[in-house]
Amino acid sequence: MMVDKYAVIGNPIAHSKSPLIHADFAQQTAQAMTYEAILAPVDSFDATVKELMASDYKGLNVTVPFKFEAYKICDSLSVRAQSSGAGAVNTLINSHGKIHGDNTDGAGLRRDIELNLGFAIEGKEVLILGAGGAAHGVLNSLAGAKQITVANRNLDKALQLAASITNGSACAFDALDKPYDLIINATSAGLTDSMLPISDAIFSKNTLAYDMMYGRETPFMAQARRNGAQVADGLGMLVEQAAEAFYLWRGVRPNTKPVMDKIRALAT
Ligand code: NDP
Repeated sequence: MMVDKYAVIGNPIAHSKSPLIHADFAQQTAQAMTYEAILAPVDSFDATVKELMASDYKGLNVTVPFKFEAYKICDSLSVRAQSSGAGAVNTLINSHGKIHGDNTDGAGLRRDIELNLGFAIEGKEVLILGAGGAAHGVLNSLAGAKQITVANRNLDKALQLAASITNGSACAFDALDKPYDLIINATSAGLTDSMLPISDAIFSKNTLAYDMMYGRETPFMAQARRNGAQVADGLGMLVEQAAEAFYLWRGVRPNTKPVMDKIRALAT
């Protein structure tokens, strides 16, 4: 039996949950495939990918810090990877030796918010905190929102990001003073347990406060909870973006709930 090879590439990579997630998807859907984590030296991502593609790897996931470099080495790009303006991809497909790139982060976020959390984005007031790679990558997936406000520590970056959509506006954190329906924390402030300088007034009991970080309660999540908002972390997005990549590679959509439950159980 032919067994197809896949991998995730990053640096560092030991912490990655992707091998566990894809092993679960492969088992559920009876796919003959392997999926491993590969550490690429920071200065030879390009060579590592080309070597893997030449060794007949069928597809790769790309994580920090290589998503931007991955975009540049693609021979072709999906429409959503081109139109996101992120200049970054997280999924590579070996298409007869040519590299096709896609970005499944936005689709993963939207599926988690709408399907898993049951929150409809259409017509809602949305606030994105942060204007880095993750914010760029998911902005297009919020189509249908009434208004999207981008707030960032570096205001110029927020202005630039908001200008890429017709219903966008930008401001500094301390100018935020009214409640939003959906607040997405796309900053990496949670990594260092840093409080964002945001007012309690942006949360209400009707707010969904979504932190793209996962694995721990961030100060953002704690503040949202104190103010009565519904709170979610980014584990669902992680698993959904993986499922979207799996679907691109294998043409079959895995069930995401069992693997989310498994990872949550491992964390407790
Ligand atoms: P980047 O480094 O590209 O951007 C970081 C952003 O966070 C910038 O907007 C930066 O502001 C802001 N920031 C960092 N520290 C602080 C702070 N102390 N106070 C205020 N703002 C701060 O990172 P990414 O966009 O790639 O990643 C952001 C987060 O999203 C990470 O936590 C990452 O783990 C998560 N993520 C989760 C995914 C998932 O599947 N769940 C997928 C992708 C990302 P400034 O511009 O002013 O420097």
